[in-house]
Amino acid sequence: MRIPLQQSGDMPLYRQIETYLRRQILDGVLAPETKLPASRQLAQELGVSRITVNNAYAILESEGLIYSKGGSGVYVLARTTQPAEPGAIPPDSWPRWQQAIAQKVELPYEVLHASPRPANRHPKPIRFTGVGDPREYPIKDLMRAMHDVLQRNGASALEYGGLDKGYAPLRTTITHVLASQGITVHPDQVLITAGSQQGLALVCQLLLKAGDTVLVENPTYNLALELFRTLGLNIVGAPVDQEGMCVAAIEPIFQQHQPRLIYTIPNFQNPTGVCMSGERRRALASLADHYHVPILEDDFVGDLRYEGRVQPALKTLALEGRVIYLGTFSKMLMPGLRIGFLVAEGPVFQRLAALKRVSDLTTPPLMQRALESYVNVGQYHRYVQRSCRLYRQRRDAVLAAIKRHLPSTVQVEPPQGGLFVWVRLPDGVSSVALLPLAAEAGVEYAPGVRFFVEPAQGEPYLRLNFATLTPVEIEEGIRRLAAALSRAPGT
Ligand code: PMP
Repeated sequence: MRIPLQQSGDMPLYRQIETYLRRQILDGVLAPETKLPASRQLAQELGVSRITVNNAYAILESEGLIYSKGGSGVYVLARTTQPAEPGAIPPDSWPRWQQAIAQKVELPYEVLHASPRPANRHPKPIRFTGVGDPREYPIKDLMRAMHDVLQRNGASALEYGGLDKGYAPLRTTITHVLASQGITVHPDQVLITAGSQQGLALVCQLLLKAGDTVLVENPTYNLALELFRTLGLNIVGAPVDQEGMCVAAIEPIFQQHQPRLIYTIPNFQNPTGVCMSGERRRALASLADHYHVPILEDDFVGDLRYEGRVQPALKTLALEGRVIYLGTFSKMLMPGLRIGFLVAEGPVFQRLAALKRVSDLTTPPLMQRALESYVNVGQYHRYVQRSCRLYRQRRDAVLAAIKRHLPSTVQVEPPQGGLFVWVRLPDGVSSVALLPLAAEAGVEYAPGVRFFVEPAQGEPYLRLNFATLTPVEIEEGIRRLAAALSRAPGT
């Protein structure tokens, strides 16, 4: 083998040999299973010591590029020059345990049904998706808060921090915010989580096992549904109308399916935007108590009310220990903070805290401290008021634009708060079939199929998130939606 070596170069000889061989292997010149010369032979050919060649071989072996086969010599290891793309490997060449998991655990609906990008996609799409408006994030305030925290308490903020329930001053702030909403809790009942999504996952892990039934509003939050499906739960849906979950319809469900958990979003529900009436809340609390079923109350945007009467949280209506309450700073502040919390009592609280601890040790202490330094109750309420002013205008803009541009056969129910308008398309039009036309026209939305227990039920619906867009963008977005709709099959 001829390897060009520079005897007087800067690079040691073993490095020159190793570099040369690595390139040859990675470029495929030395094919897998090629036998390399024995070190004594190569040393002789190159006029170097055997140790030099052995050093080069040792490095290549440690990188997995070559291997020694018991006494018979040194060979190039089978490998491709580029790692294979994940999708390029045929399913039956995975090890059997990988194939078994593919059979057992379903991929999320959105992954399985990701729509292909249309060829002529609009260069500047208007997206009625996402949460809040990134242009309104209080980035400077957060920067200042993080700077202060690092300057004052840098070391503590970068340690694991309180490994049990989360940063105590932040838990106290949360109790003050909750008290202003009529929910009185002790800081030791508050567990800080990585967003409320983690709270949701912890509760399911603790209370449910595969095959157990969870009762949900139908439609409901898509990533709660995906979580339940991933865990192999049996999902039973209760219909939703203008007063929220139809509680009268659920007694037979209790008797037939014996749910182990009720998951509800009573305020400005995702995706419909409806609020559960006070009467239904009381009925649900007493039904859950009667059948001994815990309620998981997901209050993700309860503060974003633009009009109408505030209804009491289920947490305050049910007896102590019946309801696990989830809250989050994602919608009121920024989702990337990944800070949410749950409120619970008794044995379930202790076990949720322990489960959280073994899941991820802690929610990033720097973020917890920065948030605590930035948010006090007064500031939180100023921020809520500002968001309400801004989003109310946007809700009005989307309702007005729908009225102006979409056919009168499109149905919407104006939400009294929150982030979404839930739209029912004219009979025969599918929001899935409309997606590529909308993408071409330059508008994006969440199709209704994502939110239903039986996805096909969602075909006539779509969800528009109005909070991310200015009224001018909303007007243009709905105009584009109208253009797409006029081309949709079924219209
Ligand atoms: N609940 C509902 C109803 C949601 O819509 C979302 C996210 N959009 C979450 C929980 C989870 O949010 P996060 O983890 O950011 O708090």
